[in-house]
Amino acid sequence: MATNVDNWMKLDRNLLLRIDRFKGSSQSAFVACDFDGTLSPIVEVPENAYLDEQVFEVFVACCKGFSKLAVVSGRRCNFLFEKIFPKYNQLNSPPPIELFGLYGLEHQILGDKKSPEDTYPLISKDELLAMEALIDQVALEAFNFAELENLIGVVEKKRYMLTLHWRRQLQAKESIEAFAQKVASTYNLELHYGKANVELRPPGLPSKANVVQWLAQDLDGGCYIGDDMGDIAAFSELRTIKNSKTKPDFQALTVAIRSDETPSQLMDEADIVLDGPAELIEFFKLIGQVNQ
Ligand SMILES: [Mg+2]
Repeated sequence: MATNVDNWMKLDRNLLLRIDRFKGSSQSAFVACDFDGTLSPIVEVPENAYLDEQVFEVFVACCKGFSKLAVVSGRRCNFLFEKIFPKYNQLNSPPPIELFGLYGLEHQILGDKKSPEDTYPLISKDELLAMEALIDQVALEAFNFAELENLIGVVEKKRYMLTLHWRRQLQAKESIEAFAQKVASTYNLELHYGKANVELRPPGLPSKANVVQWLAQDLDGGCYIGDDMGDIAAFSELRTIKNSKTKPDFQALTVAIRSDETPSQLMDEADIVLDGPAELIEFFKLIGQVNQ
């Protein structure tokens, strides 16, 4: 397993070759990062997440020669904007960065004056309104549940989905999961487990795989970096594109950030496993060499 990017790289020629090929495709490739646990440290209270400014600065500086840069998250787009824009605004002529909130339901471009209306066409406005009303109802029940059980900071309502967190309330994990399962079956919602949370989503919402597909559509390469269950879909989509007949020369790289809570499946499926922000910075420098 990787403990240090440089050392590991020296040992694995195939990987070095793949990274070289990926760098070679930079003018027609994207680099996309998850937010929590990747560009932001994991915090006890989800609302308190903050951008790791050093990691972000190196990301932008090293990867500005790539065709597209993106941040892909289950968070709301305005949350990502609030956390990222103050630092972005201080940088010296940064490239545009695409923000994908709610797994791609929301889309915004930093540094681009156009206001894009190119959110996913998969879901109609009527369907979204119905989902919003459903989540309003589920949120009412969730807040009642949290109050009855005396749980603080557990419910995060995200317009079209709802997340229940137990990082601060480990003792309540079982009762939170039981509540989530009950509500999911009552309202026909999907359950998506994360590191210390479960998300209730109406069926048919996009996933990070859709975002990867979207980013890759006109490009010849893509790198995706993440640390949680939701990122597995992005990894598999990159592999699917790479193995497809329509893009036989597509250069793909998948990178997992390791922590105590990172799912082993994600690390197993990653090309590269990095131990935290310091190695992530080294990785950005490595893929960015041709662009500096
Ligand atoms: Mg994450």
